[in-house]
Amino acid sequence: MTLTGSCMCGAIHYTAEVDKYTAALCHCTDCQKWSGGAFTSNAVVPRSSLKVTKGTPNSYDAIGDSGKVNKHFFCSNCGSSLYTELEIMPEMTCIKAGGLDNKEAHMNGKIDVEFYVKDRPRYLAAVEGAKQEPMLG
Ligand SMILES: [Zn+2]
Ligand SMILES: [Zn+2]
Repeated sequence: MTLTGSCMCGAIHYTAEVDKYTAALCHCTDCQKWSGGAFTSNAVVPRSSLKVTKGTPNSYDAIGDSGKVNKHFFCSNCGSSLYTELEIMPEMTCIKAGGLDNKEAHMNGKIDVEFYVKDRPRYLAAVEGAKQEPMLG
């Protein structure tokens, strides 16, 4: 399938050609800070599959619990969170699913895994059927 996505203002567009992807929620405090929400929803794809087709994302290097760099890509015009590249997962890119087009933000209604459930807000329940990882797993 071809995933396409963009930021809120449309300055950045991207595509990813994938057979399938892992649908992951992350409740870590960096995801909360970065998104302004309670968690991020991610389509985790092979890093080589992601192509930016319009514009140039800005990036910010956060240092994760691991001590390694988590590179956060965003639109410097509208501030939308686009995707992250984690040094500890060099083969993968975590596309922030809210930026995906064609209702793919729903990720087919199925979440494969939840990360950092130790930091999940107390008002949210675990997603049924999703693997529960206290941290990154
Ligand atoms: Zn933008
Ligand atoms: Zn996170």
